[in-house]
Amino acid sequence: QVVTRFAPSPTGFLHIGGARTALFNWLFARGRGGRFLLRIEDTDRARSTPEATQAILDGLAWLGLDHDGDPVSQFQGAARHAEVALEMLAKGHAYKCFASQDEITAFREEARAAGRSTLYRSPWRDADPATHPDAPHVIRLKAPREGETVIEDQVQGRVTIRNDQLDDMVLLRSDGTPVYMLAVVVDDHDMGVTHVIRGDDHLNNAARQMQIYHAMTWDVPVWAHIPLIHGPDGKKLSKRHGALGVEEYRDMGYPAAGMRNYLARLGWSHGDDEFFTDAQARDWFGLEGIGKSPARLDFKKLENICGQHFAAAADASVLAELDGFLAATGAAPLDGVVRERVAAAMPFLKERAKTFPELLEKAEFAIAARPIVPDEKAAKALTEETRDMLTQLTPHLQNASWNRDELEGVLNGFAEAQGTKFGKLAGPLRAALAGRSATPSVFDMLMVLGRDESVARIANAAG
Ligand code: GLU
Repeated sequence: QVVTRFAPSPTGFLHIGGARTALFNWLFARGRGGRFLLRIEDTDRARSTPEATQAILDGLAWLGLDHDGDPVSQFQGAARHAEVALEMLAKGHAYKCFASQDEITAFREEARAAGRSTLYRSPWRDADPATHPDAPHVIRLKAPREGETVIEDQVQGRVTIRNDQLDDMVLLRSDGTPVYMLAVVVDDHDMGVTHVIRGDDHLNNAARQMQIYHAMTWDVPVWAHIPLIHGPDGKKLSKRHGALGVEEYRDMGYPAAGMRNYLARLGWSHGDDEFFTDAQARDWFGLEGIGKSPARLDFKKLENICGQHFAAAADASVLAELDGFLAATGAAPLDGVVRERVAAAMPFLKERAKTFPELLEKAEFAIAARPIVPDEKAAKALTEETRDMLTQLTPHLQNASWNRDELEGVLNGFAEAQGTKFGKLAGPLRAALAGRSATPSVFDMLMVLGRDESVARIANAAG
């Protein structure tokens, strides 16, 4: 069974790059009936915060990336990590090193002066344990000095590191705490992780991690180190590009399905397909489709894809997600008749929307309460003449049966009788019904608002 994991360090918000890493792991597992696990890498006690962990959980929840089982805290596993270091020691794959910081510095300075490699070579590597002092020490890996460490990376290809370029890394510090590199390997092994998809900033770590796998004769997971995301200018993503955290995208009102689709395309491709459903993404996603060069953030593409997801989504699910958007941004919820109106309007509200704020702008006529106060531009459509027309129109609407065809007939007939066209009526009606000059179609608004509300708004505007 395929087991993947997302292993964020809880030192800040959920970065857009982290979200994509999580998505790739989620898609890979979900498409193969596998498990997707979450591990919080909170070993850096000074920088890890519960707020950051919560932000990561919230971000994943918003994106709909559900994980299996409880999140694992890496810090909680410290005793287990130490146990593995001691096991390597017992098996002769690690050794106690009593060198002080000063000795190590002196070694390096001497090596530099003599033009030799400054990689630290501990004299304790082959020391007889009988000669060991009773003193503080670290535990170092007895790494191979000859040959090469080879990583068969699914994205980067074969990566080879000469073993004489790696030192004997510390596994356990002198206070008995495990180093991060050991923790990652032990956790991935214990959690049964079969595939590791992560940023290529971890490729260098992979060689060292590989040495630990070898020492323990554990199965090495399949590794896929993916290129980091770049900004629109092709440079490494940074603060000056803005919008680094997924919660910013949520607050800008992008629908989660569109965001998933867009993030999936960021560094992965399936032919020319730009728009796809979750089910298609799960079916199609594979490591072979991951590109070797960094993908660039492109807001135009994101909006385009989000627009397509709005159009394709079921009305009820857009409404439910709109509720979530309003709650997340601290806006008032939609209740009672307003909620019913927005629900009824959904088929045309979602039509050309790319974000929830855009959708809400179109929904304004449905959310606003009487009296409708026209904005400056709309107010210009309400002249003495057009108010008079609205007054005369009201009884016709009172008596019409409330369906689209009939309303079209009534309004066109009324305009004709006035010796004008419906176009002349539209502006005043928009002002009356929505208080705006740019609105959904008059007939759409009439249908959503219903007879009583429509007539009341028109009568109000007529004065
Ligand atoms: N905790 C690491 C990070 O947030 C990820 C480590 C890994 O995936 O192996 O960059």
